[in-house]
Amino acid sequence: MERTVCPIKPTCVLFSKVDLLDALKFNIETYYCKRNFEKCARYKLYLLGSDIPPNLLPNDKICIQCETKN
Ligand code: SF4
Repeated sequence: MERTVCPIKPTCVLFSKVDLLDALKFNIETYYCKRNFEKCARYKLYLLGSDIPPNLLPNDKICIQCETKN
């Protein structure tokens, strides 16, 4: 069955403000954003109306080595 892309992808700062390794970005997009966004920790916080840390990864871990862009 065709899955839909995460509805908050256009505004997800994980991709615009965080310097992710290309391989990590690719894996996140392939697994979470394009197929399983309802499992993403960022998306769950969004549904709760909570603040989403920029460097929070979909697996609920903070990416401490990720630089945040201005
Ligand atoms: S990282 Fe999570 S919240 Fe951001 S676009 Fe992908 S699935 Fe959606």
